[in-house]
Amino acid sequence: MKKARHAKDLIDSARAVMQDWSAVYAKENITPDFRVKAFGEITPPMLQDITTLVLDVDGVLTGYRETDVRFPNTVKQLSQKFKTYIVSNSGEDRYRQLGTIMEFFNIPILTMYQSADGSINIYRALQHGWDVIWTEKGIEKIPIKNKINAYDRKKHYGDVPEELAERYPGVKFKKVKKPNTALADYVKILTGARGGEIVYIGDRLSTEISMAGQTGSRKILVDELKGKREEPLSIRLFGRPVERYYARKYKLNAY
Ligand SMILES: [Mg+2]
Repeated sequence: MKKARHAKDLIDSARAVMQDWSAVYAKENITPDFRVKAFGEITPPMLQDITTLVLDVDGVLTGYRETDVRFPNTVKQLSQKFKTYIVSNSGEDRYRQLGTIMEFFNIPILTMYQSADGSINIYRALQHGWDVIWTEKGIEKIPIKNKINAYDRKKHYGDVPEELAERYPGVKFKKVKKPNTALADYVKILTGARGGEIVYIGDRLSTEISMAGQTGSRKILVDELKGKREEPLSIRLFGRPVERYYARKYKLNAY
């Protein structure tokens, strides 16, 4: 019953997931409340009045596309104390891999999809080894599996799971990515938490930090991997320079 209401709220909540780029890069939205060198340096005062953590993975809990979680004890302790979720922009194969890695910590990994015309919103969570997909048709739980290879999936479905394509033949879906605020609405509806009770912990001003800023949540920036060679080339060439431009413009210290 509760789940069904959630599903309806979710469908209603994300009619428009268009990006407002002036809001994405507004000074107040991309100015972190706290900055730490590494995830393990987050301290209790930074989490005061918080009930819900939303974590990024690549560059925060692990290196890019790595499988070793760097601060497992901290992750475990925090996830026992707070409602904890991961929201990831990663492609389908990494997303499924994260489902396996995070099962140990019992942290659900959230993502969502929208049809090209904006009329269908699909919500998804990987949890307890299950792939839970919420559509307007209801909630489905299917085992996490890899039935086609990565190359074929990417070619045919992009970053959308093939199960979704099979359920909605002919409909083109795209993955909704941070800093799209529809993802923050998803977290709020799942948890019942207000914006101020949620903290986003990420390594990118233009994704996690901006999404938090746009939706009234706390923002903790993790600096560990910024500009390191292990970052994907696309981030180093396009993502970071844009962030640096705004950081200079707004005089965000030492960015
Ligand atoms: Mg990241």
